[in-house]
Amino acid sequence: MLSSNKVLRAAVQAWSRCHSTSTPAAKAKLKQDGYGFSFNLTDQQKEFQATARKFAREEIIPVAAHYDRTGEYPVPIIRRVWELGLMNGHIPESCGGLGLGIFDTCLTSEELAYGCTGIQTAIEANSLGQMPVIIAGNEQQKKKYLGRLMEEPLMCAYCVTEPGAGSDVAGIKTRAEKKGDEYIINGQKMWITNGGKANWYFVLTRTNPDPKAPPSGAFTGFIVDGDTPGIQIGRKELNMGQRCSDTRGIVFEDVRVPKENVLIAEGAGFKVAMGAFDKTRPPVAAAATGLAQRALDEAVKYAMERKTFGRLIVEHQAVSFMLAEMAMKTVLARMAYQRSAWEVDEGRKNTFFASVAKAFAGDIANQVASDAVQIFGGNGYNSEYPVEKLMRDAKIYQIYEGTAQIQRMIIVRELLGTYKQEPQ
Ligand SMILES: Cc1cc2nc3c(=O)[nH]c(=O)nc-3n(C[C@H](O)[C@H](O)[C@H](O)COP(=O)(O)OP(=O)(O)OC[C@H]3O[C@@H](n4cnc5c(N)ncnc54)[C@H](O)[C@@H]3O)c2cc1C
Repeated sequence: MLSSNKVLRAAVQAWSRCHSTSTPAAKAKLKQDGYGFSFNLTDQQKEFQATARKFAREEIIPVAAHYDRTGEYPVPIIRRVWELGLMNGHIPESCGGLGLGIFDTCLTSEELAYGCTGIQTAIEANSLGQMPVIIAGNEQQKKKYLGRLMEEPLMCAYCVTEPGAGSDVAGIKTRAEKKGDEYIINGQKMWITNGGKANWYFVLTRTNPDPKAPPSGAFTGFIVDGDTPGIQIGRKELNMGQRCSDTRGIVFEDVRVPKENVLIAEGAGFKVAMGAFDKTRPPVAAAATGLAQRALDEAVKYAMERKTFGRLIVEHQAVSFMLAEMAMKTVLARMAYQRSAWEVDEGRKNTFFASVAKAFAGDIANQVASDAVQIFGGNGYNSEYPVEKLMRDAKIYQIYEGTAQIQRMIIVRELLGTYKQEPQ
């Protein structure tokens, strides 16, 4: 009883300090103590967010329809984003990067996605390709491959999926065999974002041929230079949405990779490849939220201009309630991605929150974009208006980086795990 009173008193004291102090010194003290809960962004975060927001509105939105129509890779935009320091944010300072947290870069991802998620995916795929190196690379590997991306606007890619295995990662067949100081890679990857544009690839291979070997020791992850002989890049895939993002199949035929390019060690690849997702799913959820916010904004603007039956359509309750639902979902998706990013930046395992955010934001991006099309009526179905593109672009958020179903499997696995540890 005494100890619970003590806890209560400490909490009340913390609360009263939090709510009765407004001097900068008091606020700094509170921050240091770690009390409280805050939605405030730091000045640096606000600056990144504002820069990305301005760039998306002024330089991405005007060209988004062009890139969607032509499927051209958005080289000038990527170059500008790189110059502004709005990509590759996680690269450590020791490699010339900014060493930003996941929360910081999520803010940028949301803003760029507001402009065009095709362009944003091309940019985000760099983070996905880099993440295995960031979490598992040694100093030489990091300096060589991450440092390169800070010197010029180069791309990289994450090669895990194959024609026969996407969700079932342990089913991949690409083989790597050790011969002397090299590994020889043979196999085929599919749906690789930045596949035809990458300077280097993260490639997951099977090194233990025994199909019964547990995944935790059967796979090896490599960094592979894009110009290595034996790499054959397939045609650019014509996708439903995000059409300017470069998605391709890649064949690896007797591709020789030095043993120095193994991440961690032979057998560690599955953990490395899957571990990246805890840090890359929050920004994917942030991008889906950016798309939802754009759809909401477009729908509100339209509903305040379009008249039927002598009234603005926003004055019809059925339409205004749709807008309310769209806003609710968008706000909650933002909270979910921010929580998942914050968890991992705090050094905690965020697998549960990352999947919650990815699944929820992916689903609501589809619902909100579809509702925006509905609010636009016939115009919504037409490519002259922006919401048709948003609806096509949204679908991929329920597929890549783990489908909507796979996220639910992870959520329930993590959920049941906590119940097994601490029965409630
Ligand atoms: C545009 C695009 C970009 C991509 N970029 C990359 C990339 O850069 N790098 C990369 O490695 N991959 C990439 N992918 C691949 C992507 O991650 C996979 O497509 C995805 O993981 C699903 O795998 P799959 O296509 O093989 O579908 P499958 O695994 O065959 O799944 C088919 C359906 O079955 C469901 N399903 C499967 N297993 C289960 C289960 N156990 N329980 C319930 N439902 C299940 C799935 O949810 C899905 O609905 C990309 C894909 C696309 C389309």
